[in-house]
Amino acid sequence: MKIARVETHLLDHPLEQAFESASMRFERRQHCLVEITCEDGTVGWGECLGPAQANAAVVATYADTLIGANPLEHERLWLVLYNRLRDQGQRGLTMTALSGIDIALWDIKGKHYGASVSELLGGRFRERVQAYATGSFRRDGVDRVSDIAAEVAGYAEEGFHGVKIKIGFNVEEDLRVIAAVREAIGPDRRLMIDANHGYDLLEALEVGKRAASFDVDWFEEPVLPEQIHTYRAVRDGQPLPVASGENWHGRYAMQEPLASRAIDICQPDICGVGGFTEMRRVVDMAALHGVRLIPHVWGTAVCIAASLQAMAALPPNPPRREPIEPIMEFDRTHNPFRQAIVTQPLEHDQGWVDIPDGPGLGIEIDRDALTRFALKETTQ
Ligand SMILES: [Mg+2]
Repeated sequence: MKIARVETHLLDHPLEQAFESASMRFERRQHCLVEITCEDGTVGWGECLGPAQANAAVVATYADTLIGANPLEHERLWLVLYNRLRDQGQRGLTMTALSGIDIALWDIKGKHYGASVSELLGGRFRERVQAYATGSFRRDGVDRVSDIAAEVAGYAEEGFHGVKIKIGFNVEEDLRVIAAVREAIGPDRRLMIDANHGYDLLEALEVGKRAASFDVDWFEEPVLPEQIHTYRAVRDGQPLPVASGENWHGRYAMQEPLASRAIDICQPDICGVGGFTEMRRVVDMAALHGVRLIPHVWGTAVCIAASLQAMAALPPNPPRREPIEPIMEFDRTHNPFRQAIVTQPLEHDQGWVDIPDGPGLGIEIDRDALTRFALKETTQ
């Protein structure tokens, strides 16, 4: 079995209303898919976290190494590609591009052996996962408190088990939003807060202390991802569990936060951490250090499908009869191609998402949708 082609598909849709986290403004939805075709016609799909065109450029840089290689040797290929850009890489785009390739190689492996990726990873511990809704981004001309309360009430109505809201803008306003959201979703649904590294240490400590009375599950990315010691100070100085990991790509980036107990919850993204090959290592590292692992998810149905396969294979830790179950992130922001690019959408039903059990990622791509949402101009 040999790889014949490596291609990227850039998907694009302009947003009628832009939205913002504390660290980023979204005017368009854009994602980069990776398609790897083998000489025997087997096709694998992957997705890269982050800027689409920049990811595509790195995938193109890796591509010549892959042509003619055996796609089943994903472990060897991972290391060859990592070494290729190691001196200028180690995390960031070199890892997000590698993630998309690795996911596509596992999709090929699953199709070749007629098994789901979760089976290939060692087995399925669950057939479905609970979902939480991510939304509440800041939008121009919108009152954050009343509008976000109405938005999350809708997620509760849909059956989501929890909501994750965006903070990191302004301490006093953020605390008013947190209070309004808890009131809107009631006492039983889970509430997570995500600052997208918008605070400095003193702000993070204040928000953590004052938000504790609203029964918050976790405080995500309170401070800059480069400052592991500041994470430790946040963890030590306020009562909420601290979560992070979407911007720490690969085992080397995860090592210090895990080993130094800077976080309570580790959040690798399958499309950024280095694909399934590296996710397995990070899962083991988190378990070794006694840190709970709940994947981050942000992308199209390819990313959702890959995340579901990884979550199916997450071992219960500790391995008790009624285990702590991972909860799946479900992005609710506007993205018309998120589900349109697969023939069977991966939607939730009353807050539960079934995990596909077909070969590979268990999805089929709708090529007409790829054409419909193809990027037509350079925008980055
Ligand atoms: Mg986040």
